[in-house]
Amino acid sequence: MAIAHQRRQRKQVRRDFTKIVQSWLHEPELLYNNTLPVTITENLATDGEKKISWVIGREEGAKYLTAYWADLHGLIYNTLPPEIFLWGHQYLSFCISEDKLTVKVRAKDLETDEIIEIVGDLLVGADGILSSIGRSILPDFKLRYTGYCAWRGVFNFSENDSETILGIRKSYPDIGKCLYTNIGSGSHIVVTELKKEKFNWGWYVNQPEPELKGNTTSVKVSSDMIEELHQRAEQDPFLNAIYDCDPLEKIIWDRVVLTGDAAHPTTPHSARSTNMAIIDAAVLGKCLEKWGPDHLYSALEEYESIRKPVTSAQVLHSRRLGQMKQGLSIPGRERPFDPKTASLEDSVFILNKNVPLFDVVPPILDSIFRSA
Ligand SMILES: Cc1cc2nc3c(=O)[nH]c(=O)nc-3n(C[C@H](O)[C@H](O)[C@H](O)COP(=O)(O)OP(=O)(O)OC[C@H]3O[C@@H](n4cnc5c(N)ncnc54)[C@H](O)[C@@H]3O)c2cc1C
Repeated sequence: MAIAHQRRQRKQVRRDFTKIVQSWLHEPELLYNNTLPVTITENLATDGEKKISWVIGREEGAKYLTAYWADLHGLIYNTLPPEIFLWGHQYLSFCISEDKLTVKVRAKDLETDEIIEIVGDLLVGADGILSSIGRSILPDFKLRYTGYCAWRGVFNFSENDSETILGIRKSYPDIGKCLYTNIGSGSHIVVTELKKEKFNWGWYVNQPEPELKGNTTSVKVSSDMIEELHQRAEQDPFLNAIYDCDPLEKIIWDRVVLTGDAAHPTTPHSARSTNMAIIDAAVLGKCLEKWGPDHLYSALEEYESIRKPVTSAQVLHSRRLGQMKQGLSIPGRERPFDPKTASLEDSVFILNKNVPLFDVVPPILDSIFRSA
């Protein structure tokens, strides 16, 4: 019943969210120079002992673009006026004025250690999964370690021997237009191609929570760890501890608003993380435009009411996907997911397109899709 309802919604509103990023660019077609369209997603069950894989779910007609992070960042960054950036400063704290009309931010110049203060109308906390702005508001907030980490890397095949590439292309015949996920016993691997002769890969491994250092969930890997991975995978990696958290009750407080990973730390399994951050930014911008500076609270309330239900559902869905793909126990489910005996229901659940509220476009973004 729920699935049928989602399908009905999808039919009515199927849209291409890449239009949002295009609406921010001076030359919208540049998005396609830096990205590869992905029209297929495929989940494979892998039997590590017998060294065989078979398809347990495939979606055609998908509308993803894969991008190397730095390319997408550069594209958006280069369209913005340089004077709006203040590089090399670390956010420290904020306070709201007594009349609640302004917010004052303290930040440290990382070169000189000088502390500066900036007064504004609104503070947008877009400072990632370990958000310091979020911690200023919710000091007891804790992320949930998922029980696994991801070895990740980008493999540049313009400089690599063709035998490896031939092997990858043989194992993944649709690579270039397909996002592949191999699900084994207690582990899964994601592989896709990027523009400019690169493969993006991630290998999720169950392990105790590593010790984090600094403001990042990336872990410095020791030479022993690399050596072990090289023996197992022969590629150049880095390690990310994977976290999420239960949906926050609020993402706005007076003149402070959270967006992106700061608002909804999530696991990466639904390919929603950057997408959610981009849609947050678009919706927040349109709400501020609609209500104007004199009605800031109305704008923030509308932003929260549009985004929170969607991101909350997607974070919890992504959590469950991660638990399934890693063979972990799942509340309310009798046995962990085993790809070798996957039921039809499970095979459908893990398809990317079945992420809840996947392509529901809030009316506030209609102008972007109308003008595209
Ligand atoms: C294993 C893994 C795989 C992933 N794969 C994908 C994927 O395939 N596709 C996808 O869409 N997403 C993926 N993601 C997630 C994606 O990287 C994030 O969701 C996305 O970058 C969130 O954007 P953001 O702007 O909210 O935060 P971020 O990109 O983290 O940006 C936050 C910024 O705030 C800055 N900052 C933080 N604290 C301070 C401070 N105190 N002062 C000043 N600046 C500060 C940081 O330097 C950073 O520049 C993956 C993540 C992981 C861990």
